[in-house]
Amino acid sequence: MTSHTPMYSTRPMNTAPFHKGRSWGAIRTHDLKQLALDLSSEGVTHTTCSAYLLGKYAIVNDATSEDGAGEWAVLMETQPGGDYRQIESVTFGWMNAAEAYRCLDRILAGEWNSGDLGIVSADRVGSPHNEANQCPACA
Ligand SMILES: [Zn+2]
Repeated sequence: MTSHTPMYSTRPMNTAPFHKGRSWGAIRTHDLKQLALDLSSEGVTHTTCSAYLLGKYAIVNDATSEDGAGEWAVLMETQPGGDYRQIESVTFGWMNAAEAYRCLDRILAGEWNSGDLGIVSADRVGSPHNEANQCPACA
């Protein structure tokens, strides 16, 4: 099969399959157990602008709504402080806390580091949202 690659596809841009224009308020965490619980079906409800920073990874809410399926995009820094590359998409909302923990463990072990689902600009992953720093998703 002949491949006709359009010119524009070679440009670095936000090609990630999730919600264009969404930005996230990210909470840095080191507590894998707590994070696994929060993300799992046993956990809390997340606004669609929720995200967690775990080492060089960012786990950002990719659900279509707060009542959605608990889908999360797993992003990895392309370089320290640089843009992110989406390496995987995970439906944590379908896992119990133990399954979510094993999944986070695999992420931290670097098992999915070669995933390439698109680039996400670093400025879309910001500080945690609160009363002084709201977006339409959490206002
Ligand atoms: Zn928000």
